[in-house]
Amino acid sequence: MTDFVISPPARAVLPVRGSDAVFPVRRIYCIGRNYADHAIEMGHDPDREPPFFFQKNADNIDCSGKFPYPPETADVHFEMEMVVALGSGGRDIAEADALAHVWGYGMGLDMTRRDLQGVAKKMGRPWEIGKAFEKSAPMSALIPATEIGHPDEGAITLSVNGVERQAGDLNQMIWKVPEQIAYLSRFYDIAAGDIIMSGTPAGVGPVERGDVLIGRVDGLGDFTTRVT
Ligand code: MN
Repeated sequence: MTDFVISPPARAVLPVRGSDAVFPVRRIYCIGRNYADHAIEMGHDPDREPPFFFQKNADNIDCSGKFPYPPETADVHFEMEMVVALGSGGRDIAEADALAHVWGYGMGLDMTRRDLQGVAKKMGRPWEIGKAFEKSAPMSALIPATEIGHPDEGAITLSVNGVERQAGDLNQMIWKVPEQIAYLSRFYDIAAGDIIMSGTPAGVGPVERGDVLIGRVDGLGDFTTRVT
């Protein structure tokens, strides 16, 4: 038994739909500009330039259904994304083998302090201050791939106060899920417990306190987040 000099921090976990068991989270990788229409709205060429990833912290996950408006910003945006949860990992994983490492799928919001991210981009600085803050990753429960397979097409949408704001199709991903896993595994030892936020379709925009966000992905259901 290890003696800790302080109490060890709580492990980040995601609930599993229809189960009392939980999924332990190790890392969160997030791909940038992975739907062409979103790349265009952010002022970039949607051509297939190499993918890029940033990370959020595992303890940024929140499944309470509430998103507290964060400090030091006046422009917080929603980005609705499908979440991919890995049950195993490795290095240099081939695309053809990648989906065998996926344990399940869920939905998440890559909440972004867009004003701070904009300053970081302009100054050539890291993005963490805009992306990896407290409760910046509201998420749904996961659903095992053994139940739903591996979604690669179907609508992904987000409504705000009943008005649809984001709409795309999983088949519009520039880098598909197996390609994302293969690419990440060239640079990192990816592992069980890692999750990937697989990108957002066009239509991102700001939230205000009181907003009700409902994200949907075909085959995964929906999840609701209230901005408090
Ligand atoms: Mn995103």
